[in-house]
Amino acid sequence: MINLHISTSSSENTTDIYDVIIVGSGPAGMTAAIYTGRSLLKTLLLEKIGSGGQAALTELIENYPGFPHGINGYELSQRMEEQAKNFGASFEYADVQKITRDDQGLFHVHTESREFLSKTVIIATGASPKKLGIPNEEKFIGRGISFCATCDASFYRDKVVAVIGGGDSAVEEGMYLTKFAKKVYLIHRRDQLRAAKIVQERAFKTPGMEFIWNTIVEEVKGENFLEAIKLKNVKTGETSWLEVNGMFLYIGLYPNTSFLEGVNCDEQGYILTDEMMRTNIPGLFAAGDCRHTPLRQVITAASDGAIAAYAVEKYLEEIKG
Ligand SMILES: Cc1cc2nc3c(=O)[nH]c(=O)nc-3n(C[C@H](O)[C@H](O)[C@H](O)COP(=O)(O)OP(=O)(O)OC[C@H]3O[C@@H](n4cnc5c(N)ncnc54)[C@H](O)[C@@H]3O)c2cc1C
Repeated sequence: MINLHISTSSSENTTDIYDVIIVGSGPAGMTAAIYTGRSLLKTLLLEKIGSGGQAALTELIENYPGFPHGINGYELSQRMEEQAKNFGASFEYADVQKITRDDQGLFHVHTESREFLSKTVIIATGASPKKLGIPNEEKFIGRGISFCATCDASFYRDKVVAVIGGGDSAVEEGMYLTKFAKKVYLIHRRDQLRAAKIVQERAFKTPGMEFIWNTIVEEVKGENFLEAIKLKNVKTGETSWLEVNGMFLYIGLYPNTSFLEGVNCDEQGYILTDEMMRTNIPGLFAAGDCRHTPLRQVITAASDGAIAAYAVEKYLEEIKG
């Protein structure tokens, strides 16, 4: 269990008891806040970086209903935040480091600087991009290695970049990069993409995009900025250096759940819930990409957030009753 009987609260904090604290303001957290705010629950949303999570880093979201020509991820995130605030949800920037529960059943949400109290908590901390785990990688993060084409594409005007991965994100962000870079190599460890067929078709027709199959990146090098990446063909074992100015990684995600204790997760760390987004701890819910789920998208995160908010309302009615 989640440190159920540990009480570390100080009395100064007890005046502010929230009905629900939502950790993470991606689409899951913000949708939950829209619903709990609209239900007049005292809602606090804690976010460590910036509203929108991964969605805010996406140049164009084409598959979220209601936007026939797609919508920029940052703009969609801003709209969600405004909507949640309109319904009375409070936002604070804070990195949640631990969650405990006292003997009265109240959750204590610990951040770097203070502790917040709540009757319920929704974990909506999403997921973060995986790194390659190769020599020199850390040295070049922010100096040629990036995880966000929307944020960094303009630095690579008329330059050469590599995109690593074969899923929707890799292919879509790769196509976006062709608007800036003079050449985009899409490097994938298999001989075919995982991206949706319609996305693949578009990518194969995109000028300036070249595909390198059955290949992984083994090493990176450069002086102050990335200059070249070492490729290995997994079929032949052949290695070669490719000169690039930038490398964008879209090789998968890991869940932001390591700060939790006592919450049941799958072997990769994704939180296990039932269909009401309930975790194994009463009053603690999870929504979105941090959850064990078959699909991780804006629409599914939003849907989880709505269900979690509904479940919070039911739970609060039960404990009141
Ligand atoms: C490049 C890319 C392109 C994508 N394209 C699409 C697309 O076209 N269509 C689509 O539907 N989906 C797309 N997705 C997926 C979509 O963005 C995610 O499924 C969605 O954002 C998940 O929402 P979430 O709220 O669960 O988590 P996230 O968006 O990951 O948000 C989680 C939030 O929690 C915060 N957080 C984490 N830990 C803590 C902590 N300890 N304390 C406080 N805050 C914390 C994070 O800073 C983050 O803001 C894309 C993703 C990427 C990376």
